[in-house]
Amino acid sequence: MAQKKTRVVVAGGGTAGWLTAFSLVTRLGNVLDITLVESDQIGTVGVGEATIPTMCNFHQLMGINEQEFMAATNATFKLGIQFDNWANDGDSYIHSFGEIGQRSWMAEFHEFWMEAVANGQQDSLEDYCLELKAAKANKFATKIGNRPLNFAYHLDATAYAAYLRNKSEAAGVTRCEGKIQSVDTDPQSGNLTRLTLDTGITIEGDVFIDCTGFRGLLIGEHLGVGYEDWSHWLAADRAIAIQTQSTEAPKPYTIATAHKAGWQWRIPLQSRVGNGIVYSSRYLSDEDALATLKQNLDGEMLTEPRYLKFKTGRREKAWHKNCIAVGLASGFLEPLESTSIHLVTTALIRLMKLFPFSNDHELLAEQYNRETQKEMETIRDFIILHYNLTKRTDSDFWDHYRTMDIPEPLAHRMAIFAQNGYVWPDDVALFRVDSWVQVMMGQGLMPAQHHGASRMLPIDGLKQQLSAFKQSVNNALGQLPAHADFIARYCPAGEQV
Ligand code: FAD
Repeated sequence: MAQKKTRVVVAGGGTAGWLTAFSLVTRLGNVLDITLVESDQIGTVGVGEATIPTMCNFHQLMGINEQEFMAATNATFKLGIQFDNWANDGDSYIHSFGEIGQRSWMAEFHEFWMEAVANGQQDSLEDYCLELKAAKANKFATKIGNRPLNFAYHLDATAYAAYLRNKSEAAGVTRCEGKIQSVDTDPQSGNLTRLTLDTGITIEGDVFIDCTGFRGLLIGEHLGVGYEDWSHWLAADRAIAIQTQSTEAPKPYTIATAHKAGWQWRIPLQSRVGNGIVYSSRYLSDEDALATLKQNLDGEMLTEPRYLKFKTGRREKAWHKNCIAVGLASGFLEPLESTSIHLVTTALIRLMKLFPFSNDHELLAEQYNRETQKEMETIRDFIILHYNLTKRTDSDFWDHYRTMDIPEPLAHRMAIFAQNGYVWPDDVALFRVDSWVQVMMGQGLMPAQHHGASRMLPIDGLKQQLSAFKQSVNNALGQLPAHADFIARYCPAGEQV
């Protein structure tokens, strides 16, 4: 006799909802029966267009063809983020996804480079990173010979949800259109049992995934799981988004430009550019934010301004009873390092590993919640780093960030780097040494000392090694085509692959 399938109800059809449905049907479809509910009346948040390299790995795990996905979502490649005006007005640095120099186990590459600089070498750490140099030169290929580049994507969020929807429905996900009007719970266990839509349709389930966005309809409004507010560290609570026409070939990087109060993103797609300003209502009015954003657009507006409100923080438990919140329903960190879709993908991998196939799932839920908390806190601290390292004194906004108390693990990390140059990957292995070094040094936090291993070689030998490495980066750079040419060959928008 066939085993009964576990009935999964996905509430919400934004990026989180459709990524959930697609992943579950692709990897566990034989043992799950999946229904997704979404409401065209409510719509999706509709932003979320810059990603980080983990997205490529996730797509590979889920069997997504890169060329097909990119053509369907108007996507471009992303090698990092350029941060303008963060330390001081007029400054600029790139946090690239590439490795800087060569790995060594005892001391890090930047420490060898610092030794050479202390002995008269005049160059930049940037010269030792292919991805960073390629970004600046507007060049790209997925690999050179056997050497893959480390990259991510810029994508059209609405097209991405539609792409995932087509694939999910073709693979057997049932979609229900309608507004969730009521939620039923089993009085004994407290587990969710049924959703009723405004169309009168009822959907019963064993496991409910809350992808209803900021409101967290199931996890928050219905099950009453609280929200840990982090706005004392990350004050932004508003954004305005506007799409514009492209004025140039797409760059292979996102730009995050700091303003007097808030910052602005620029995300180039194949046929248009996504822009937006992130700000705090404590320091900037909506009118002034819109004026700042409009002043700094470089193409004609294609859409009316879209206003978004949010609260930075995390759901106290992302998994409670038989309900797991994924996406904005589980918490939100502003998009400075493009980490929200990443958090959806890691939530899904975690969920698939710990999936509640039986009712005895309290320990699985506890483990899931511990891992989720650690991950959110790690990313939160990395984002705080960008703000706290500012030297700007031109507004109350920057004064607040420059002088505020920061979480202790971050304060420790910054202090040890400033004194000794020591840096290590974070606890969830998301931001590697290279990421921390690029942002800390990019914003002017230069170590007072560096590791003595950098003096093991005679200085001329060290300089020769550095020079050979730099040459290898330049040779590789010379082989890369222009980013736009690579896209035109590999994944032009709208083309069936
Ligand atoms: P939503 O898109 O809000 O979807 C919610 C779904 O729930 C919708 O389908 C809606 O119809 C449905 N729903 C809600 N209530 C009901 C109901 N009662 N009945 C039926 N259906 C219902 N992430 C990145 O990775 N990179 C970025 O660059 C980035 N930029 C961002 C910029 C801003 C300003 C913001 C706010 C977010 C950004 N994000 C970014 C985050 C990203 O947009 C989200 O993580 C992602 O879109 C997932 O959203 P979601 O699916 O959880 O929610």
